[in-house]
Amino acid sequence: MHNALRTERVDTVVIGAGQAGLSVGHHLARRGVPFVILEAGARIGDVWRSRWDSLRLFTPAWLDGLPGMPFPASRYAFPGKDAMADYLEAYAARFQLPVRTGVRVERLSREGDRYLVASGGGVIEARHVVVAAASYQRPRVPDFARQLDAGVVQLHSSGYRNLSQLRDGAVLVVGAGNSGAEIALEAARGGHRTWMSGPDTGHVPFRIEGAAGRYALAPLLLRVVFHRVLRTDTRVGRKVRTKVVGHGAPLIRLKAADLAAAGVERVPRTAGVRDGLPVLDDGRTLDVANVVWCTGFHPGFSWIDLPGVTTNDEPTHERGVAAGEPGLYFVGLHFLYAMSSAMIHGVGRDAEHVAEVITQRLDRRHERRREESGAGMARPVTGPAATLPGGAGLATPGTAPSSTGAVSASRSP
Ligand SMILES: Cc1cc2nc3c(=O)[nH]c(=O)nc-3n(C[C@H](O)[C@H](O)[C@H](O)COP(=O)(O)OP(=O)(O)OC[C@H]3O[C@@H](n4cnc5c(N)ncnc54)[C@H](O)[C@@H]3O)c2cc1C
Repeated sequence: MHNALRTERVDTVVIGAGQAGLSVGHHLARRGVPFVILEAGARIGDVWRSRWDSLRLFTPAWLDGLPGMPFPASRYAFPGKDAMADYLEAYAARFQLPVRTGVRVERLSREGDRYLVASGGGVIEARHVVVAAASYQRPRVPDFARQLDAGVVQLHSSGYRNLSQLRDGAVLVVGAGNSGAEIALEAARGGHRTWMSGPDTGHVPFRIEGAAGRYALAPLLLRVVFHRVLRTDTRVGRKVRTKVVGHGAPLIRLKAADLAAAGVERVPRTAGVRDGLPVLDDGRTLDVANVVWCTGFHPGFSWIDLPGVTTNDEPTHERGVAAGEPGLYFVGLHFLYAMSSAMIHGVGRDAEHVAEVITQRLDRRHERRREESGAGMARPVTGPAATLPGGAGLATPGTAPSSTGAVSASRSP
């Protein structure tokens, strides 16, 4: 069936043009590997644009740049979400990354050592596929949410924009991670009685915006502890990973004291629904008008049709290189290699590692083929520009076509 739709061959397909996919693109381009980035959103950065209005990054601008391009803001500013979205768009343009927007990959399968990347527009054949679609694909909400009274407004954090979506009356925020804490604070400051339910995820023990935080402690925590110490190849890293992946990361900018000062009341886990209202672990029923589920996401990898690659939707991989697959990679997953892996300042290292593995595998393959066909024979130039009819569809509006084809003569699918 897919043969009729098959239109192109590209060495490497990157799925997702967020910080992870763009970083991979940057490193592939530097190595001369032909690739294309497929992005479901209409515009690069739409994931950030669709987050709640008041969201400011919890990392300072000096940690919000991707490889090769600093974030354009003063070093210690905490940019807003739209500024981050615009930065990603500018990054793709600056490095002329071949991003095709509005292309959602619906199925990833394999025939021998060729991957078939299927979207509404057809099928691309690739030797290598990097899934950079994040672990945040499908909102996770408990089943009992359906039993809430129809009069209770309920939203997942991914659908929350601002207080105008809430009814007058009390708010229960379920989930006490960074998103839950920020939304609870906003609700309380907006005059709603606000409860925040769920186990404490802890918080970093200093003010990231204070002088000591800015100059010493934030660099130590984010660049050294999160990036260098807490890694899957250190004992302490593996220990922390189990805790963080299961229970959420500590609050970074907010503190329990900020929430208490704003009037947010901490309550135990939400255990179910009684008479249309949420019930807590301690048996209390809360008379709320609104529930905001800050309960995280399912990775949402059901479109990956490759037996054994995911277990319970979680990929099996070593530093992003999928186990038992000739050319499948993940970048941007939570704690993929280090605590910083899903953070802006941490993703570049994982992206570079994966780009390097792809380059080495392509080089080895090319060497083998050269030996088979007689040394010195040049391969035809391929790459996104050469594989598309007329080079069409290579770049998003505002980005120029890829320049990687010129340096990609030695690597073809
Ligand atoms: C509320 C919130 C605040 C955060 N704040 C910070 C912060 O301050 N500092 C920090 O360092 N980190 C922060 N993070 C963590 C992280 O930086 C972000 O989640 C970031 O968006 C992850 O980037 P990504 O590229 O891995 O994934 P995403 O940004 O989610 O990008 C993935 C892309 O893949 C696309 N995609 C998905 N599926 C498909 C498909 N099937 N086909 C084609 N395209 C697809 C999506 O449209 C999307 O554009 C925050 C996370 C959240 C949730």
